[in-house]
Amino acid sequence: MITRFAPSPTGPLHLGHAYSAMLAYDMAMQNGGEFLLRIEDIDQSRARPHWEAQIYEDLDWLGLWWPRPVVLQSEQMSRYQDTLDALWRDERLYPCHCSRRDIQAAMSAPQEGAPAFGPDGLIYPGTCADLLKAHYGEKPRPNDQTLRLLMTSVARLAEKSNQGTGFSFMETGSGPNGETGEIFFTAEDLISGVGDIVLARKGMGTSYHLSVVLDDAAQGITHVVRGQDLFQATKIHVVLQRLLGLPTPTYHHHKLIRDEAGKRLAKRDDARAIAKYRADGKSPEDIRRMVGL
Ligand code: GLU
Repeated sequence: MITRFAPSPTGPLHLGHAYSAMLAYDMAMQNGGEFLLRIEDIDQSRARPHWEAQIYEDLDWLGLWWPRPVVLQSEQMSRYQDTLDALWRDERLYPCHCSRRDIQAAMSAPQEGAPAFGPDGLIYPGTCADLLKAHYGEKPRPNDQTLRLLMTSVARLAEKSNQGTGFSFMETGSGPNGETGEIFFTAEDLISGVGDIVLARKGMGTSYHLSVVLDDAAQGITHVVRGQDLFQATKIHVVLQRLLGLPTPTYHHHKLIRDEAGKRLAKRDDARAIAKYRADGKSPEDIRRMVGL
């Protein structure tokens, strides 16, 4: 078993992160496996070296150990680009020029009905899909173009590659509505409920979904342990794995740690930062008790 913790260095780690990291660590250790750390710093406009340093310090203080050197996503850009090139060549991507406002305007046209939301936000109405033909033959420029995945063709193709039996993944934790065991979904669910997601964001050269799927596979992750807020995004990850010929790991989505008011903790919730508890004299055992481990 190989598990991982994959934080973004955009703020202090809080109790929710500690829970996720310790759970992934404990699962690996109890199974004679390995726990890996990956720094998800593709959003260079928000990532900061001091937050990265703080992640190492906090996890070390919590008693976790991970092999070095640590994988930084910002150092994997050429791998992401290679995959985008291949998907582009196969006509699975198209450049999109729509702003958020354009998308909302298109969706509020009366014939379109109410805007639909998927795991990646507003479901894109496909306005720019025709650009695929116009740009075919050129090379994609993920740094100055936003590239979307043509979900209609991708989902049907990926489904066909599995004798048309749809998609599934194994959930050993649970989704927000108690979903557990083998989770099934179809190409139609992806087309109507997810849509043409952004696979490379302008100025970033990649996206969370693309990077996470490529890196989980590159690092040989067998069990992805993460918060329930990412349960729905797993459908996107599974279809990308199928499309790219990558294995689908087992998923273990866990409860979210909430404050007294029942709100999930956010990065800016400094009051619950690990470093703050540490400065207040709490021990790693206290942290474990607080999150229920
Ligand atoms: N980097 C993501 C985050 O900090 C986690 C990604 C994942 O576990 O799949 O929320």
